[in-house]
Amino acid sequence: MGNDAAIEAIRRAVAAVPSDGALRLHLAQLLTDAGRGSEAVVELGVLLAAEPDHPGARELMLAALTPPAATPETTVAPAPREPGPDAPAPETHSTSKGFDWHAAESQLGDIAAPMFVTSGEDQEQPGTEPVEAFETQRPTIKLSDVGGMEQVKERLDAAFLAPMRNPELRRLYGKNLRGGLLLYGPPGCGKTFLAKALAGELGAAFISAGLSEILDMWIGSSERNVHELFVQARQAAPCVLFLDEIDALGQKRTQTRNSSMRSVVNQLLTELDGIGADNEGVYVLAATNQPWDIDPAMRRPGRLDRTILVLPPDAAAREAIFRSNLAQRPVEGVDLRRLAAGSDGLSGADITYVCELATERAMMEGVRSGNVRMIGMADLQHALTQVRPSTSGWMDTARTVVQYGEDDGTFAELKAFLKKSKHW
Ligand code: ADP
Repeated sequence: MGNDAAIEAIRRAVAAVPSDGALRLHLAQLLTDAGRGSEAVVELGVLLAAEPDHPGARELMLAALTPPAATPETTVAPAPREPGPDAPAPETHSTSKGFDWHAAESQLGDIAAPMFVTSGEDQEQPGTEPVEAFETQRPTIKLSDVGGMEQVKERLDAAFLAPMRNPELRRLYGKNLRGGLLLYGPPGCGKTFLAKALAGELGAAFISAGLSEILDMWIGSSERNVHELFVQARQAAPCVLFLDEIDALGQKRTQTRNSSMRSVVNQLLTELDGIGADNEGVYVLAATNQPWDIDPAMRRPGRLDRTILVLPPDAAAREAIFRSNLAQRPVEGVDLRRLAAGSDGLSGADITYVCELATERAMMEGVRSGNVRMIGMADLQHALTQVRPSTSGWMDTARTVVQYGEDDGTFAELKAFLKKSKHW
């Protein structure tokens, strides 16, 4: 291989100055590029042992240990890796020495790789075009991809889908599709995912905008940009317009020192009311972790007048989240149901973190022993002991608000949940 001489030269340099992390990283990169992944893993292991947080080394190591490609003729350690320019074309699954992706997938029971790929939330479709200031997505996930959360799905169905499907019913009950829905609950528990799934279910476009981002980015022109956002959503209709962190407005409005914030709120209300414009086919879903900070004007009829509480994932949801997180990793003997049972209280984001920790553990152990191995239950269960539910703080705040705040019935659902829970 043409690079061999260069690799040997750098290897000698590394041997001369073993503490030079940058040099060692360079060597690992060259080895990876040359298709000598197992040697790269050893170098990266040495580097990470000295500098556990080295971002470049972690990245390269993860790339070496994560799909998409596994090369068939691994010599020492059976690590999947990115093929270098000279490496042979990857096979769909490797044979005796590389990771056997086929077997790994079968360890996940009835789950086939293509299903996971389509259920990934950020899959881009060929028709997706970045439009103007906000990205317009075409989610392919559906409500059936949302694990568990039956009550929430039923509420979404009643609030949006049933009347959409049945205009007669809509007329009968005087329900129109104006007005939006407010999803609230602790962070990382599926609000965005649900909104995307709803867009997928409706065959609608999806535009997401973080309110604090809008406010920070466009000081002085936030008002115009709120308008632009709605114009873009109307053009893309049918479209789910997801307004994340909607509390940023309420918060800032009450603390407001300047009137410009008030005009942003007013602009948003004007747009929500569809004054001077037709909001037909624009479904506004707003989300917040801090519903108590929402400007009450936003909650009036025809605006964000319906609320849905999105709680930490139930067991079925946790199983789905573990499944999607592990689907693209080299796993062996994973019992998803047991993981779901052992992760009560964790958010979706917490579960993602558990899977990352488990991957790192398997990886580092493999590096230490010189024998790269699959991620197993022991790794995941160990990781579970390391992660505390990030939702606890939120639950404490929610309890205080519900117990001592003004009770106008807004948080009745939350109160009922808390009263039955260990957080009361
Ligand atoms: P939020 O918007 O509430 O902060 P997200 O929607 O970003 O939370 O969810 C965090 C992660 O958990 C996402 O990666 C999402 O895909 C996953 N997730 C949450 N709930 C579910 C569920 N019921 N089924 C499958 N994945 C879920």
